[in-house]
Amino acid sequence: MLPYGRQSIEPDDIAAVEAALRSDWLTTGPEVDRFEAAIAERAGVEHAVSVTSGTAALHVAYAAAGIEPGDEVVTTPLTFVATAAGAALHGAKIVFADVDPATGNLDPAAVEAAVTERTKVIAGVDYAGVPVDGTALREIASRQGALFLEDAAHSIGSTQDGAPVGSLADLTTYSFFPTKNLTTAEGGAVVTADADLAARARAFKNHGLVRDKAVQRYPDEGPWHQEVHSFGLNYRLPDVLCALGTSQLARLDAFVARRAEVKKAYDEALGDLEGVDIPGVPEGAAPAWHLYPLRVPAERRRAIFEAMREQGIGVQVNYIPAYWHPVFEDLGYQRGMCPVAEDYYRREISLPMFPGLTDHDVERVIEVTRKVVAG
Ligand SMILES: *Cc1c(COP(=O)(O)O)cnc(C)c1O
Repeated sequence: MLPYGRQSIEPDDIAAVEAALRSDWLTTGPEVDRFEAAIAERAGVEHAVSVTSGTAALHVAYAAAGIEPGDEVVTTPLTFVATAAGAALHGAKIVFADVDPATGNLDPAAVEAAVTERTKVIAGVDYAGVPVDGTALREIASRQGALFLEDAAHSIGSTQDGAPVGSLADLTTYSFFPTKNLTTAEGGAVVTADADLAARARAFKNHGLVRDKAVQRYPDEGPWHQEVHSFGLNYRLPDVLCALGTSQLARLDAFVARRAEVKKAYDEALGDLEGVDIPGVPEGAAPAWHLYPLRVPAERRRAIFEAMREQGIGVQVNYIPAYWHPVFEDLGYQRGMCPVAEDYYRREISLPMFPGLTDHDVERVIEVTRKVVAG
């Protein structure tokens, strides 16, 4: 079965991991600093904090934003549940706003209608790799005294008007899961231009430990002393995986270029099919295509999905609206709340999209898709 996403691992990656394994540091060593510096540079901001997953990155970013019980976080339903769960675990009330039908990204007008004086964070997702409208969302957030967080699990390598994803929001989170645009197996990062947000993120991912004598309450305790001022967790990404990430980052541009070729081939071959919509691209956006979300007639989506899987094309569906999950249903969230996102979900099918696809693979996906969709 041709998967919908897959990592690209080359001899350089293996050599980098082997070197880290043979070094003195398996974790908390120099490869962590190297990877964080490379990620920050790519993001175009000062600070990068590596963590153990994209989910951890969200949990850490919401902690850095100071999310507390009673705060509201406005986000999209068209995402993996972690975008909402990371805030809910800090006690936030999740408020879902609807999406734009062309891109599946948060619709600024819907966000505008959803914010209140309790809104602390607006969390957008760069669905499929397309940057969310950061200019509008950041403006709404700042008017509200809130922060704009960009869940860029799909979009490391994307740019908007020439500016890299990572530089567009107050806080940006990445995932380095194997299907994402680059991988550390499991891993993620929070990036920000703000030194205070970065310091809070760094504390939360490392038990809340304070090592700086200047801010310790009991600095004279002894040279071994470190103290905890707020609770945190251990979300440290080890050197072994950071070494893989640095090695992968060197090939990110090549990954993005191949993804763009595949996107173009699918657009050209499938755009004319009856009842089908190809992904929209906003003005000024240069997406790193993490997914290729095709929309087919809702009433035939399941049959198309099953027929394609039967013919060896590992399609996926991204995503069930987050508030359809029983955890939200049990809190009283009801279907019908975000009709555009629900319609997007009912029609969506993700075709294989990863840099290792050969031209022959792409042709086979196209051939099977055309045949199955035509019925
Ligand atoms: C993958 C993903 C996450 C979570 O990342 P993990 O590394 O799998 O924990 C969060 N948000 C979105 C939109 C994702 O696609």
